[in-house]
Amino acid sequence: MLLRHTPKEITERSALTINPAKTCQPIGAMYAALGIHGCLPHSHGSQGCYAYHRSALTRHYKEPVMAATSAFTEGASVFGGQANLLQAIDNIFSVYHPDIIAVHTTCLSETIGDDIPQIINKARGEGKIPEGKYVIHANTPSYVGSHVTGFATMTRAMVDYFAESNGHKNKTINLIPGYSEPADMEEIRRIASLMGIKTIMFPDTSNVLNGPLTGKFRMYPEGGVTIPELKLTGSSMGTLALGKLASGPAARALDAKCKVPCQLLDLPMGLEGTDAFVDNLRRIAGVNVPDALTLERGQLVDVISDMHQYFYGRRVALAGDPDQLLAIAKFLVSIDMIPVYMVTGTPAGKKFEKELREVVKDAPCEVKIKIPGDLFLLHQWIKQEPVDLLIGNTYLKYVAKDEDTPLVRYGFPIFDRIGHSYFSTMGYKGGIRFLEKILDALLDRKDRDATDINMELVM
Ligand code: SF4
Repeated sequence: MLLRHTPKEITERSALTINPAKTCQPIGAMYAALGIHGCLPHSHGSQGCYAYHRSALTRHYKEPVMAATSAFTEGASVFGGQANLLQAIDNIFSVYHPDIIAVHTTCLSETIGDDIPQIINKARGEGKIPEGKYVIHANTPSYVGSHVTGFATMTRAMVDYFAESNGHKNKTINLIPGYSEPADMEEIRRIASLMGIKTIMFPDTSNVLNGPLTGKFRMYPEGGVTIPELKLTGSSMGTLALGKLASGPAARALDAKCKVPCQLLDLPMGLEGTDAFVDNLRRIAGVNVPDALTLERGQLVDVISDMHQYFYGRRVALAGDPDQLLAIAKFLVSIDMIPVYMVTGTPAGKKFEKELREVVKDAPCEVKIKIPGDLFLLHQWIKQEPVDLLIGNTYLKYVAKDEDTPLVRYGFPIFDRIGHSYFSTMGYKGGIRFLEKILDALLDRKDRDATDINMELVM
């Protein structure tokens, strides 16, 4: 009953968010930066922000997250953080030897107005950036956008700083995986490699934030896109951007800078989402879909048909990032579940909202959508008319407890469960896993509520 004071009656709020359905921009920028091999993310702001960003990522991935900070104190807060950043760049390259430092700003340094490209140029001029090493940056003021915006901006910075065209097109396809789990990135690459396609994925946090325990500490884990690969993205024959909000800006920048045509797709979730991804890969690379992938698709179709009876007509409340909401809503509608309430804290725009409303236009009941919205409002809707299932991050557990409703944890952050970064919910195989999680939650509830007489062995 932690949220027992949430009232059922809804009053109009315009300048107050309660229980936000998002986290702050630099977290997404830091996550994207960790997807470059040999990169040390750097937070240009106070230690408080940096500690929060690192701890949010560490708690979600259960891995140590290495990063640095400009450690603003009163002086930097008043006069600007140039001296701090210059000193930091010098110290980081001397002590921690990364290949690249990825600087992101915070609310504080943005409000001061620190000119990061100018500071980076000054550092280069003063010989603080060793030969063959790089410093890139992304502006991530957290009073606009969300962690998704931060991810998109840092991913775009990879294009702005590195992509170059070598005059001819290589037989590679760029994959921008959106704000997804390391295991999702691994799965997306696996599908392309099953089709015999060479890809460059950026960023790529697989084997960085879901790496093995070897007994040895590695400051810079095995995984991540390399800088030579980032340079080659400008010579690929095409780009598939998965998740329009998180991946679109980088894909469009690459098209404008190096004339690499891009296709903006949904996250490859469920049958239709994965079909679209596979079909675009096939078309761009001019290859056939291998039997192994057709088999995986057939398995997902089989699982859907076995489980459909339990899903039909179930009411679901969703909270998450826009790209995830859209992909999940499409998947749920395709299996006859009804996403009745949907919120995201990320301001995703009218076009996105229209697209989301289009997905549920044939729903047999009223569907409520608020963009940007918060978990407080979602809870109020549920109090007015309950749902069968919640899908969203850890913060929804309080609503789940208060309303005694099953919760499938999905998205970012998940602080109270382990393993999500090792199992993909994308592609055909990931679709089976996602459905298994949903059905487990629904049937566990059925077992819990069953009396001695109607407790079933076979369900
Ligand atoms: S919202 Fe702004 S001040 Fe707060 S942690 Fe994020 S960057 Fe720092």
